[in-house]
Amino acid sequence: MEPIIEEPGKIHQTDALIIGAGPVGLFAVFELGLLDIKCHLVDILDFPGGQCSELYPEKPIYDIPALPIVSGQELTDNLMKQIKPFNPIFHLGQMARELKWDRKNNLWVLKTDEETTIKARVIIIAAGGGSFVPKKPPLNDREKYEELGGIQYAVRKIKNFENKRIVISGGGDSALDWAVNLAPISENLTLVHRREDFRAAPDTVSKMYKLKDDGLIDLIIGQIKELKGKDKLEEISISPVGGVETQSVKCDVLLPFFGLTMKLGPIANFGINFENNLIPVDTERFETSEKSIFAIGDINFYPGKLKLILSGFHEAALMSQAAHEYIYPDKKIRFQYTTSSSSLQKKLGV
Ligand SMILES: Cc1cc2nc3c(=O)[nH]c(=O)nc-3n(C[C@H](O)[C@H](O)[C@H](O)COP(=O)(O)OP(=O)(O)OC[C@H]3O[C@@H](n4cnc5c(N)ncnc54)[C@H](O)[C@@H]3O)c2cc1C
Repeated sequence: MEPIIEEPGKIHQTDALIIGAGPVGLFAVFELGLLDIKCHLVDILDFPGGQCSELYPEKPIYDIPALPIVSGQELTDNLMKQIKPFNPIFHLGQMARELKWDRKNNLWVLKTDEETTIKARVIIIAAGGGSFVPKKPPLNDREKYEELGGIQYAVRKIKNFENKRIVISGGGDSALDWAVNLAPISENLTLVHRREDFRAAPDTVSKMYKLKDDGLIDLIIGQIKELKGKDKLEEISISPVGGVETQSVKCDVLLPFFGLTMKLGPIANFGINFENNLIPVDTERFETSEKSIFAIGDINFYPGKLKLILSGFHEAALMSQAAHEYIYPDKKIRFQYTTSSSSLQKKLGV
């Protein structure tokens, strides 16, 4: 299912804002949706699914109730199908950066690193082990070229790469996917990998070799040695494996794809209590030290906590009941089963 993805840089208002579109953040959309609570989600990744989609999309999971075997990606796809009736709005490829309370309007105001503003009555932190951040290569003047836009770690807008001289470094799915997608629109594209063997999907590897044969990709088996350029990145020297001389490649932008690590990031500065990089919560509402900010999934802590998807799903259900009190302070929740409530079935479009 294609999610509704918003362009960055706009101002939005919603009932509940979920930070993290991992399995637990996604299931929270469902539980909140049953209670007529509308959601936006922010995730630094370009796709939903959190660890399941980023770290183990093809690995089988065996402990999701009633799904004897399901892969990480299948679980994400199923969750996306399950929450579709509630039309959640996704802000992908954006880091939740700053959270402030707007006392006058009784709302939280979240800003992302892409200048999106989202106002919401409740915040749900479902940020797992933190945000995925790219592993950075040890290259000369790296920070200088990052600031000048000569080194980028994600492709936010394909248009920005049109007619550019691009060097992609890496041998996994991201490196190969972007090599294949950007080659046709670039002025030229060089793919640098330190060995012949690629860890990407075989189909993408074949596409890359086809583009190489058609002269649209230059493939160099070797390692980047040096970045050059005064006020911007202009050239990269590469040492080919087995070669004696370094090769120079003219370049406007380098895209290193060396995988991701997880870091807590700006959430640590949101003003809520943390203990050992986890957010302590109670086990009835899953509320943090700040009223109307909840924490569910791998990011929270309470006695007996198990970092399992199953636990996060349970937490999402209970948290939603508590969130309802802030959004509909005058309405009492009447407990209903989805099997027997026609009003719930109507919300689900069945
Ligand atoms: C190899 C492996 C195998 C596993 N197998 C199982 C298993 O069999 N069964 C099981 O139950 N569990 C398993 N797990 C654990 C399971 O994946 C986690 O418990 C689950 O992913 C937690 O879900 P979550 O939604 O809380 O967090 P995550 O899946 O970590 O998602 C959190 C999301 O928040 C985003 N985020 C964080 N901070 C920010 C920010 N500031 N701004 C924007 N976005 C942000 C991240 O990018 C991420 O997408 C496994 C984990 C691994 C690594």
